[in-house]
Amino acid sequence: MQEKPVPNINGDSSEFWSGCAKHELRFQKCEDCGHIRWPASVICPICHSRNANWIISTGKGRIYTFVVYRVAYHPAFAKDIPYVVAVVELDEGPHLLTNIVDCPIEQIKCGMPVEVMWKQINADVCLPLFKPV
Ligand SMILES: [Zn+2]
Repeated sequence: MQEKPVPNINGDSSEFWSGCAKHELRFQKCEDCGHIRWPASVICPICHSRNANWIISTGKGRIYTFVVYRVAYHPAFAKDIPYVVAVVELDEGPHLLTNIVDCPIEQIKCGMPVEVMWKQINADVCLPLFKPV
């Protein structure tokens, strides 16, 4: 059986994924304008500064938008149907593409408060998923 695709960890994103392994949701914060960004990048998209550090998110936010998958477009996801793919707006600002779990699909709505939970995928990758608060 075909396996699910896993994130491609590179130099920009390795700090994020190292944080996930420790159950910390880390985002870059621009040292010049304060913008907290995702995905990680060398240059701030707001002020073009190269100075940044990393903050740890509270892991709390709201569902910005979502879709219910009722068709498996990849065979490895067939057993998960139906499942929810969502954009979660973290309290610190970043918008993260993720899954909503531990909630009946008919109860999911935009603006719903959610918090991060963790799913270990393999030795290297622990995914941040979200559930209702
Ligand atoms: Zn900036």
